[in-house]
Amino acid sequence: MANPGPIPRSRLRLAAVYLAVIGVILYGAGLGMFGLLMRANWTALEREVETLAGTLHDSLKPLLPEEARPSTELAAVLPGLCLVGDPCPSPPSLISRHAVSVTDPERFYLRLLDPRGVLIAHSPGSPSHSPRAKTERSGPAWSVVSGPGGDRFLQYSIHLHHSHTPARAGANALELDWGYLQIGRSLRGLDAERERLWWATQTIVVFALLVAGLASWWLSGLAMSPLLAAYRQQEQFTSDAAHELRAPLANLMAVVDANRTQPPADAVAREQMLAAVYGQGQRLSRLISDLLLLARLDGPEAAAAVQPCSLPQIARDLLEETSEAAAAAQVQLRLLSGEDDLNVLGVESELYRLVSNLLQNAMQYTPPGGEVVLSLKREGNHGVLQVEDSGIGITPADQQRIFDRFFRSDPGRSRRQGGTGLGLSIVAAIVRRHHGQISVDSKVGSGSVFAVKIPLAG
Ligand code: ADP
Repeated sequence: MANPGPIPRSRLRLAAVYLAVIGVILYGAGLGMFGLLMRANWTALEREVETLAGTLHDSLKPLLPEEARPSTELAAVLPGLCLVGDPCPSPPSLISRHAVSVTDPERFYLRLLDPRGVLIAHSPGSPSHSPRAKTERSGPAWSVVSGPGGDRFLQYSIHLHHSHTPARAGANALELDWGYLQIGRSLRGLDAERERLWWATQTIVVFALLVAGLASWWLSGLAMSPLLAAYRQQEQFTSDAAHELRAPLANLMAVVDANRTQPPADAVAREQMLAAVYGQGQRLSRLISDLLLLARLDGPEAAAAVQPCSLPQIARDLLEETSEAAAAAQVQLRLLSGEDDLNVLGVESELYRLVSNLLQNAMQYTPPGGEVVLSLKREGNHGVLQVEDSGIGITPADQQRIFDRFFRSDPGRSRRQGGTGLGLSIVAAIVRRHHGQISVDSKVGSGSVFAVKIPLAG
């Protein structure tokens, strides 16, 4: 099977990480929502049972017989309630006198217990051996119990009091402990709701995860695209560099091989052979030093090397240095500078290299009789250095590509003139390092203007 390569593999890994993170967040949020909804349902249920218990307690209080035991008086107070020991058929309605909502034995049950917690009466369908009332003196108690049919019930137990009016005239009625009232509310509806909500949460989360999976794949592609571009550029650069290195090396080997099989006959032939070897060696050396410089420019800047540098000084030095070559090429070289204190903060050697590359290109691509003008000016808090030539010019299409590494409009001409195809990429890298901008304006047959704008020091 074909190797997918490091970039698609990284994209897959990145998408998986995105999905895992989004998945955990989604699942956590889903569970949180589920918990909150269930909590709200539970609270509503408790409130309903509490209200019902309170209403029943208040209604029963004045009607309760004095003693908490299974008696006919008790049976008369709550019709439909079964006394302990009596058969207990399921009536159509229960305690309709006291609370309309407690009429459904499927949903509710009632139990009355004596002060010791012994069951004395109950509604049909109530758990026969449910726990005793667990209320403490401190207050009511909640519990979850299983009904006869296996249904769960939320059970609420409270103290029952009854009013006792003393025989003495004018005395206040006494509140006496009578026993316990237990009211159970079926949890069948709530359990069904929980089940429904649980599956709804799972379905939504799974669906959201599918969408998140697609989004993760798209996002990882988006995040990887600059890396992919850099990776492709690097691949292209490596193959171009290998190709550029191989050509002079192959030439060099060919010259050496030819001279080994057929040694030079005389001093002139030997001199020619050595000159050819030396020329190819020089080409290799230039290429390697340009590659090393580019690698250095791509790396972090050495802070120690940064200092204020005078652009006019650099321009004058380089003009002086190139004047001989310009004269040999019959190109007129001029400097136009009204400013003398254009200082930029940078690395001096790099700035020399920048101006030198632009000047060399201008002379290289300007035919004899042409002119190259180097000008300097201030623009706000930037220094602007311009190299203008009256040379061959650059087509608009090539203007987009001349800063690419190893790009040449005319490879044969560039190589003949000793160009490596890296000059302008070095210039662009230096400009970038100095937080500047570079632009080109050119017309085929009329010449080119390269303008570099760099922030001034201070
Ligand atoms: P080279 O070593 O080929 O000069 P550069 O990176 O310096 O490499 O330039 C890239 C290409 O841009 C050159 O091959 C040439 O085609 C074009 N170029 C650069 N400067 C000029 C100029 N002043 N006039 C015309 N063409 C130029």
